[in-house]
Amino acid sequence: MKKWPNENKGAEDRLISPAYDPWDPMQSLRQFGRHRLTSVEMTITNLCNMRCEHCAVGDSLVMTEPEQLPLSMILNMLDQVEHLQTISITGGEPTFRKRTVEEKIIPILKYAKERGVRSQINSNLTLDYNRYEPLLPYLDVMHISFNYTNEADFHEVGFARSGHPVKREATARLYQAMMENTRRLSEAGMFISAETMINYRTHEKLQEIHQLIVEMGCQRHEVHPMYAADFAEHLPVLSLDDMRRAIHHLLDTRDSSIWMLFGTLPFFACNSDQEDISLLRRLRKEPNVTVRNDPDGRNRVNVNLFTGDVFVTDFAAIPAFGNVQKDRLDDIFEKWQMEHPLNQTVNCYCDIANCCGPNLLVADMYYKDIDFKTRQAITT
Ligand code: SF4
Repeated sequence: MKKWPNENKGAEDRLISPAYDPWDPMQSLRQFGRHRLTSVEMTITNLCNMRCEHCAVGDSLVMTEPEQLPLSMILNMLDQVEHLQTISITGGEPTFRKRTVEEKIIPILKYAKERGVRSQINSNLTLDYNRYEPLLPYLDVMHISFNYTNEADFHEVGFARSGHPVKREATARLYQAMMENTRRLSEAGMFISAETMINYRTHEKLQEIHQLIVEMGCQRHEVHPMYAADFAEHLPVLSLDDMRRAIHHLLDTRDSSIWMLFGTLPFFACNSDQEDISLLRRLRKEPNVTVRNDPDGRNRVNVNLFTGDVFVTDFAAIPAFGNVQKDRLDDIFEKWQMEHPLNQTVNCYCDIANCCGPNLLVADMYYKDIDFKTRQAITT
């Protein structure tokens, strides 16, 4: 392992909080004066015990898979990222196989801890508690999806794409396991961030969903629009009016003692719509509320740990633009930043609005013909 710059020194002691969200690309943009690769997301499995209606990586899910790249290669890849500050491990369900937890996930998390790099795992938390407990000493953020108000919702949403009937009793057990794991792990000190997507199903139930998230002891509630990718591609798109209304209602009814993080919102300070502007102003003023800029392609790339292919995100149908078996991640990222035509369409930046442009999928859903590079924030 090489010697890294001292910029992560002390970072491991800094509390992740509304005042410090190391995944927000604005942190590194301000630190370096330009976008740098500070975050690496790794797809460690395409296996999953669920088949959610909205799964943004649903088309990649499989029933069996080969071994990932060797651990030494993965650690070497991370070692070469000079300014690495955060990692995310995603799937599928990353803990689906116990062996993956023991032989890949824990060593990667140990490496991150030793280097002062913050870590996140995206999981459904429906497996046995002992699959997750070993992560407690190393993991910074356990990120779960939570879009349900009861077992029936979970059954309907979580197994919609199974391709065969799944018994209600079986899914009820998984729902209870997820809730119980969330409670126990939270009590044991794990930072659990529950993400709810705003879509045609959830937009009128956010208050109830939020309440359950609070009751489970989560430290943060994340709210994002649904990404129209893979399984979600053909689901109804929520209107911007409905989305605005849903967010206002959630802000009116939330428990303000827990951190609420909004991400990849389709509302921008360069919009002339007064409704958008007043929502953005409200979000800025609300206590314990943050709006995260989208990391994908700004300070983060996704690496498929089976092939080494590098993508802008795990769920966009945008072809790979590099491979870590041939090139260093820093070099691949520089090329994406400087040359890739897609990046050129959204890499705007308005300091005054604390905004560094839209998520590619969200821009495609709601702003098809808008060139953000020609716009500027007209309000703070
Ligand atoms: S950074 Fe881009 S999206 Fe954000 S306000 Fe400025 S022009 Fe609009």
